[in-house]
Amino acid sequence: MKRRGYLPLLMVSIAVGLVLGGTFHCISTKRDAVAAETQDSQNITTQLFIGWNLVAFSSAKPLPIDEALLSISNVCISAWEYDASTSDWHRHILGGPAFLSDLHELNPNHGYWLYVTQDCIWTYPSQQPIPDLVYITKTGTKYHRQGCQYLWGSSGAIERSEAIKLDYTACSVCNP
Ligand SMILES: [Zn+2]
Repeated sequence: MKRRGYLPLLMVSIAVGLVLGGTFHCISTKRDAVAAETQDSQNITTQLFIGWNLVAFSSAKPLPIDEALLSISNVCISAWEYDASTSDWHRHILGGPAFLSDLHELNPNHGYWLYVTQDCIWTYPSQQPIPDLVYITKTGTKYHRQGCQYLWGSSGAIERSEAIKLDYTACSVCNP
């Protein structure tokens, strides 16, 4: 489990707290102000609690907001982003008319406020490129799939493009 603290986001959160006054109750003493997230190779998961949640969007690439919020589309009411350069708030009202929304995608490493009507798990694709790994041995001239019968002794993983650059060629047996 990876835990991140975003000082600038905390500062924004204080500002939002002032703006939203009594309606905002995400920051409590028993929970982290910034929602904690976990990550596997395909998805990023963040626990959200009923009310306002300050979250970081940690996908590798931008995502259209409908896609980014798909997993919580039935409990998320709105998403907001504060643009410090213009001092403007941008928002997306889920299920609302288009003219109410001017936040159209979530961007990597930006912070957002999400309002949800119940505790829930927010999941979205990490969009990490999957490394194209092949396997080589110290003495061989071929690169292989993992588990190839010709991969004995000391072997190591390497990016396919790197292997080709180093003049390794594909094994004809395992056909990587
Ligand atoms: Zn092979």
